[in-house]
Amino acid sequence: MIQAFDYAGSPARVIFGNGAQSRTGEMIRDLGCKRALILTTPFQAGAGEALASELGELCVGVYSNATMHTPIEVTDEAMAMVNETGADCTIALGGGSTTGLGKAIAYRTDLPQVVIPTTYAGSEVTPILGQTENEIKTTVKDPKILPEVVIYDPTLTVGLPLDMTITSAMNAVAHAVEALYARDRNPISSLMASEGIKAILQALPALRDNPEDLSARSDALYGAWLCGSVLGSVGMALHHKLCHILGGTFDLPHAETHTVILPHATAFNAAAVPELLTPVADALGVEKPGLGLFELAQSIGAPTTLKELGMPEDGIDRAAELAFANPYWNPREIERPLIRRLIEKAYHGIPPAR
Ligand code: NAD
Repeated sequence: MIQAFDYAGSPARVIFGNGAQSRTGEMIRDLGCKRALILTTPFQAGAGEALASELGELCVGVYSNATMHTPIEVTDEAMAMVNETGADCTIALGGGSTTGLGKAIAYRTDLPQVVIPTTYAGSEVTPILGQTENEIKTTVKDPKILPEVVIYDPTLTVGLPLDMTITSAMNAVAHAVEALYARDRNPISSLMASEGIKAILQALPALRDNPEDLSARSDALYGAWLCGSVLGSVGMALHHKLCHILGGTFDLPHAETHTVILPHATAFNAAAVPELLTPVADALGVEKPGLGLFELAQSIGAPTTLKELGMPEDGIDRAAELAFANPYWNPREIERPLIRRLIEKAYHGIPPAR
């Protein structure tokens, strides 16, 4: 029997395909806009300039200082350029950091956004903005933040370095794994999560062998869209909570932390809701989804220990305390010794129980 549910589909327009970036001008016109400001990081400034030349008069400039965690001063600087140029929409070309800047501008101005993602972060399909002020990160959720158009062009991801490819993709999988057992899941979110997990997990070994495999790049980007979509539509649980605590307390890198914790959080929750996690086991062709994810991580050269990410060993107790102290929903009850053991295993890279 289908349980009662509340489903709201994302209103964003999604364009997918090799070479789809060439449709950017068409998307701007369809939005009724004619003065686009392109956003990039300093590293992708060249790609931004090339897109600006392609767009010609439809583009009024390139702001190329998008920065990780969307510092408020960077948004202020970009806003000055929005005002000077009279931009009527933004085009974020890049990963989650660039998308974050477009969202921050939209949160202030409600300017329409076109996003052209070049990583698997998935931020382009969530109405969530994380920004930092005086090094304090806050998160806001607002319909204004959700981009209007997303252009997925797998050819733009071919140059994503392999280590980033792996951790960015595992981070995306983590969203979908938690969506499978989310308290507010619905049949559509579960379908999208299962499909996203399958697409990414099957692409990863091929990308390890050949990061320029366009077919695997296409599968991974398609999966990233689905995984990002469920992050934006249903609630997250233990895995995201733990990563938030570890990242915030020990300043650990975001996608890498997700990559290390995912097998352990999955194994922990599989003990309570194994039937909800069968899409993960099926995608990997294994019986135990947590162990399967751990073995996949090992086989593709992903980080498997918190130690290698720079967490101090005495942080295990502190993290366990924090994870236990702030209650939140999870499909399996959180008990202090079990959480401590989970973090300890992740610290040392001990596989989840066989
Ligand atoms: P990123 O955007 O910070 O990119 C990292 C570096 O890789 C940058 O220098 C970028 O220019 C470069 N890069 C991006 N794509 C490339 C490509 N194809 N080839 C070569 N280099 C490329 O990294 P990210 O992991 O995509 O984004 C991380 C940020 O996104 C974090 O701040 C995170 O909090 C945020 N995020 C937000 C949400 C949300 O819903 N709000 C969701 C996921 C991530």
